[in-house]
Amino acid sequence: MKFQLLPSTFEEDGRASARQHLSCFIVDDLVAIDAGSLAMATNSIQKSQVRDVILTHAHLDHIAGLPFFIDDLFANLTEPLRVYATSKVIEVLERDIFNWSVYPRFSELENDNGKVLEYHPLEAGKEFSVKHLRVKAVEVNHKVPSVGLIISDGLTTFALSGDTAETNEFWNEVNLEKNLSVVLVECAFPNKLDELARISHHLTPKSLKKELKKNSHKNFLTYIVNLKPMYRDEIVQEIEELEMENLQILEVGQVYEW
Ligand SMILES: [Zn+2]
Repeated sequence: MKFQLLPSTFEEDGRASARQHLSCFIVDDLVAIDAGSLAMATNSIQKSQVRDVILTHAHLDHIAGLPFFIDDLFANLTEPLRVYATSKVIEVLERDIFNWSVYPRFSELENDNGKVLEYHPLEAGKEFSVKHLRVKAVEVNHKVPSVGLIISDGLTTFALSGDTAETNEFWNEVNLEKNLSVVLVECAFPNKLDELARISHHLTPKSLKKELKKNSHKNFLTYIVNLKPMYRDEIVQEIEELEMENLQILEVGQVYEW
């Protein structure tokens, strides 16, 4: 399985930065998880292949690239872009983004080939298929309705927490998975901002450590994602100080093979 966190931020010389403002993961150049930089950072193969987007929640850093992606592809789509999200998230997209004021309501528009946007409501706890992947969503503990995801291609299974504070449901589901290879967990703020993390329902390295202890699997890799860009160095330092085995920061832009 190929897995990539798309870049979203630039260095002064124009190169992609390790800092992450937006969240968008691409699996096998085919399926997107969240759409933060979907239009801005996908390569030409991904642009021509990705027609399925799974959303964890409706916060802007996870959906910002979705309107532009549909806009870019509008005339050339031969099938609708399929968006998999909870009905609460779909409601927010229709009310607050695709509302004709912020952007066109693509779900009501067609090109010469038919519909350009199709919603597929997902329910937490119920498995569904997206291309070659089996997907299960699990409710997590964020400021707005949000899910984590457990995704398998039959050979590799990974779990992604999405944005969350302390949660038991996610780890219960993770622990039920027999062949888990990789867990990706958020860690948005450094320890000194624990109050802000608490209010905004995110993790710090200190609370992350407690969360990781809920994982009963052995021999799995853990990657940290969703580090607030302004605090990246500090969070990386504090995560290193945890001295936990098999714990790494997911590098922005790098293509992982699991
Ligand atoms: Zn969020």
